[in-house]
Amino acid sequence: MPETAETTDAPIFDPLAFHLTGEQAALIARAQHLAAAKFAPRAARHDREASFPTENYQDLREAGLLAICIPQSGGGLGADYQTYALAAAEIARYCATTALTWNMHVCSTLWAGALADVLDMDSAVRAEHERRRAIHFRRIALEGAIYAQPFSEGNASAIGAIPFGTAARPVDGGWVITGKKIFASLSGNADYYGVLCTEIAAEGTASRRNTLYLAIPATARGLRVTGDWDPLGMRGTVSRTLEFADVFVEHDAAIMPRGVYFQAASRWPHMFLTLAPTYLGLAQAAFDFTVRYLRGEVSGAPPGKRRSSSVKQLTVAEMRIKLEQAKTLWFQAIAEAQVDPTPDQRLRAYAAQFSTMETANDLARLAIRTCGGHSMFRSLPLERIYRDSRCGSLMAPWTAEVCLERIGRGALYRDGETDD
Ligand SMILES: Cc1cc2nc3c(=O)[nH]c(=O)nc-3n(C[C@H](O)[C@H](O)[C@H](O)COP(=O)(O)OP(=O)(O)OC[C@H]3O[C@@H](n4cnc5c(N)ncnc54)[C@H](O)[C@@H]3O)c2cc1C
Repeated sequence: MPETAETTDAPIFDPLAFHLTGEQAALIARAQHLAAAKFAPRAARHDREASFPTENYQDLREAGLLAICIPQSGGGLGADYQTYALAAAEIARYCATTALTWNMHVCSTLWAGALADVLDMDSAVRAEHERRRAIHFRRIALEGAIYAQPFSEGNASAIGAIPFGTAARPVDGGWVITGKKIFASLSGNADYYGVLCTEIAAEGTASRRNTLYLAIPATARGLRVTGDWDPLGMRGTVSRTLEFADVFVEHDAAIMPRGVYFQAASRWPHMFLTLAPTYLGLAQAAFDFTVRYLRGEVSGAPPGKRRSSSVKQLTVAEMRIKLEQAKTLWFQAIAEAQVDPTPDQRLRAYAAQFSTMETANDLARLAIRTCGGHSMFRSLPLERIYRDSRCGSLMAPWTAEVCLERIGRGALYRDGETDD
């Protein structure tokens, strides 16, 4: 990995207190030091320009972190779900947009890798899957390719309520894709777009069970990146629109076999909790900023310590309590990620998602309120943290409302129970 200055920030999760192994701690520290030294100083410019942090991706590539969840036998670092999530939170603490897009990329490898390993497939399908995923892993681990994950279509498909409208028509040698994806993070900067689409075997048979997950090369004919990108927050994600007009991909484009995404979404729900690390990192960043600012340690802030006011001390206490609550709930939820979780574990995962997304924005709000007017100048990172954190509750498939609906219903009804 490249030389990076050590940061003096303690890790968000102390390895001893949270029982992490030495290997986990080392990998998480690698991500943290890289983000603190390299990504943090670049974050303001990419936010201001709404531009993609290409240099950060070059650094991630050189540090081996594009392949963090690819098994060591495939040339990667072999990290598990929990280690990835903890590393992502550290990156987000210094540059949230890089962490968010890195999530889209890493999930392509995690889902095709460790997750697929515990799902049901017959031996022929599994052998074919292992052959195909080796192609994707090789591209990433050896050639440094970037994978995006555009699911959203502006309808209820991303949350799993209806089949994806983007269609894959089987043809000789592969599929022809037609449709559109909105908010495609990494658009114009990814080498492959991992697109979820519905295989249309015959007219009128669209079903969620027939979801395909296909890697479409950025250079494919008929693929276009369209629309502007000038949003409130997460500006460095460059999440524009993708349009597919009769795009051909071959069978080896499959990241998961037919039907396996549907199985994963039903049986491995924590796969959708991977957007939360970004927002946990933002919550920590809002708290870190507040402490430094009130201690007079933020460069570029007006001089003087502001910590003696008891009102400010009370707000810092409130922030610390909220941060500890979000951290511990989230840590418990990611620690118990597994296939076929219990109903309680599933509800806890929704609660962790909701709590992380809401706490990040709440801490940013409290930080501005207690630090004061000078703290929200654009020369300081707090107002960016505030804007970035606002996006958390919007992230499909587990938006804030979806989590609330599922927790409420899941707590009141057992599986299959109705009021009839
Ligand atoms: C910075 C950023 C990056 C993104 N990157 C990606 C990406 O890389 N890939 C990707 O696939 N998507 C991405 N998204 C899209 C995101 O996951 C959502 O799909 C998108 O924000 C939905 O926008 P919308 O205007 O259609 O809102 P809507 O879906 O209409 O949501 C508006 C509100 O309605 C609620 N809502 C909508 N439908 C339901 C429902 N059926 N049940 C309960 N509540 C509901 C939502 O919770 C929300 O509060 C990104 C979004 C942002 C902001």
